[in-house]
Amino acid sequence: MKIAPVEQLFTLFSETARVLQEELSCTYLEALAETGENLFHGSVLQDELSEITEKRLKKQYMEVNLGNFTKEEIRKAYQLVILKGMKENVQPNHQMTPDSVGMLMSYLVDKFVQQPSFRLMDPAIGTGNLLTTVLNQLQKDIHSIGIEVDDLLIKLAYVNANLQEHPLELFNQDSLEPLFIDPVDAVIADLPVGFYPNDIRAAEYQLKANEGHSYAHHLFIEQSVRHTKPGGYLFFIIPNGLFESDQAGKLRAFFKDEVMIQGVLQLPLSMFKNKNAAKSILVLQKKGEGIVSPKQALLVNLPNLSSAVEMESILKKIEKWVQENKR
Ligand code: SAM
Repeated sequence: MKIAPVEQLFTLFSETARVLQEELSCTYLEALAETGENLFHGSVLQDELSEITEKRLKKQYMEVNLGNFTKEEIRKAYQLVILKGMKENVQPNHQMTPDSVGMLMSYLVDKFVQQPSFRLMDPAIGTGNLLTTVLNQLQKDIHSIGIEVDDLLIKLAYVNANLQEHPLELFNQDSLEPLFIDPVDAVIADLPVGFYPNDIRAAEYQLKANEGHSYAHHLFIEQSVRHTKPGGYLFFIIPNGLFESDQAGKLRAFFKDEVMIQGVLQLPLSMFKNKNAAKSILVLQKKGEGIVSPKQALLVNLPNLSSAVEMESILKKIEKWVQENKR
């Protein structure tokens, strides 16, 4: 029986990562990044391995030709192995963006950003799953930039992009520190939600809290807007309560001056374990000369994303809104 491509790659990643994990005494996710690097380079890069392990790994790598897989097959297999690794070592602040949300983000970026060639930044790139989902869906010339503070996640993102052959500029730093990045046409981010511990740095932001720690997700929005060209678009996965928090007044004032809300699409509550963790997709456009606001913002309560019939009717609604409002 022929093995499905995603399953074949999943097995390869997973088995070779396990071997490396044991030999290198590291975590499964660290070992996954190592095996991904090996596969990309077509050789075994770790010199501390026994001869027999090296031979075994080489044999397994030789059995697979990456050129026979689509970018989406590689992304999906890699994503499944990361999910397995994340189950072993729970990382509460590092949740990968689910595929259904990534697909929807791709659809929105495609509808709003109409240039055939543009600069796209993800300031919370994590494993790169969201960004590469968008890159795989959009048949456009995209120069992409990712930022991530966590060393392991950025390594996973870097290996992910290499395996899928996506050129990507990566910065391993706190995104709220100064960024040496030219302005971009669009931003996507599944925002980290919570307090930002660095009050000194937060003081540089208009959206800082007057007392105590500021909200990282608010500062991320401000930083992203600062690095977007006038007229550029920003797509954020936000907590539903964004406009109801104690800091919401400042956020509204900032939005009034700097951006236009193009849309808020609430993800189905059924996607979240608890209602307080539920999220929406917020679409903004940075203000600029000649940029006119939409007649009305696109407000959507998304149905179950796996229901094809309901999704089709929502996508039609979005399509109609774009035709009527996008100038
Ligand atoms: N879209 C990502 C993916 O598909 O893997 C997941 C993003 S996850 C919800 C949020 C990410 O923001 C985490 O990877 C976390 O490490 C990162 N993060 C949190 N605070 C940060 C900061 N100050 N600077 C840069 N990255 C940060």
